Amino acid sequence: LRRPALSLARTYSLHSSRLLSTLAVLESSAPSYSVLSAAAKVGGPLTVLLAGSNAASAAESVAKFDGVEKVLTASSGAYDHALAENYAPLIVENVKAGGYTHVFAPASAFGKNVLPRASALLDSQQISDIIDVTSADTFVRPIYAGNVILTVKSNDPIKLITVRSSAFPEPAPGSNAAPIESAVDPNAPSSTEFVSEDLTVSERPDLGSAKKVVSGGRGLKDKENFDKIMYPLADALGAAVGASRAAVDSGFADNSLQVGQTGKVVAPDLYVAVGISGAIQHLAGMKDSKTIVAINKDADAPIFEVADAGLVADLFEAVPELTEKLKK
Ligand code: FAD
Repeated sequence: LRRPALSLARTYSLHSSRLLSTLAVLESSAPSYSVLSAAAKVGGPLTVLLAGSNAASAAESVAKFDGVEKVLTASSGAYDHALAENYAPLIVENVKAGGYTHVFAPASAFGKNVLPRASALLDSQQISDIIDVTSADTFVRPIYAGNVILTVKSNDPIKLITVRSSAFPEPAPGSNAAPIESAVDPNAPSSTEFVSEDLTVSERPDLGSAKKVVSGGRGLKDKENFDKIMYPLADALGAAVGASRAAVDSGFADNSLQVGQTGKVVAPDLYVAVGISGAIQHLAGMKDSKTIVAINKDADAPIFEVADAGLVADLFEAVPELTEKLKK
């Protein structure tokens, strides 16, 4: 891997004074448009790369966003499951062809999978999970579960960056009509093959992007209570359901619902924490929510330190009552 990577990096360092330009790599099945807001902060033209069987239809939507100069598509089934072994050469070849100075991708399972491999091939130090762009070479990212905010400057000629989507606004589609062109498709041979995936399917709003989230913790005592209390509350609010790790580990909720340092990071308009103490690892996943409501019987629970509205009450009485009132 290293030999071509080094020569590519050297090629780019010769041209490091050229103008900025960004390639945003989005997942064509579920594009995270917040990445476009982050990339726009760098300045310079913005090209979007979409790959997979449905890249062409995703491109129609992406081309409408203001600020997008061009959309590149690689309409091949080889990219459908975002295997890093296939995707990384695609990114590298398009960076090489387009001479981009920046490559942005979401800090989602997709970006965390494909971008490190592309970074290695380009011999560049990836900058992960940024929450702000200070300048074209300086970025802000949390470490230690959000307890320390780091400002990092990169001297790499090509900067590969993953973006925490919840930290940037989701732009509304504009009236742009960016040209859609074919990407350079290396059709790289791969020794990795997609076999199958086992996904949790839900009719409810997606936890990662929902505007409202209600999360339950160990205070619910068991799975039956979790289902009986949290889902009617979620339905009354039109919210996604989340859970603390203690609730997940105790089998109250599926592990795809975990919010926190080792779960999903969410920043909805409304986050309701029910029977959750507010451990630092949980706060790392939700403290940037716009309005936080906590219901806990312990007035000293740390969740109240981050809550905008708190109710010290027994959840088994308060939540069903709240649900009934919301339904009316
Ligand atoms: P508890 O801390 O047990 O709190 C339960 C709360 O319910 C209490 O505050 C109690 O007062 C309240 N309660 C009880 N009964 C009632 C009632 N009848 N009415 C109202 N309130 C009631 N945790 C996460 O959530 N997400 C993570 O991603 C995560 N990652 C971790 C990573 C590491 C490396 C480590 C070490 C820990 C991690 N944890 C994570 C675990 C975290 O430290 C806590 O243990 C966990 O968040 C506690 O969950 P909880 O608040 O539901 O349970």
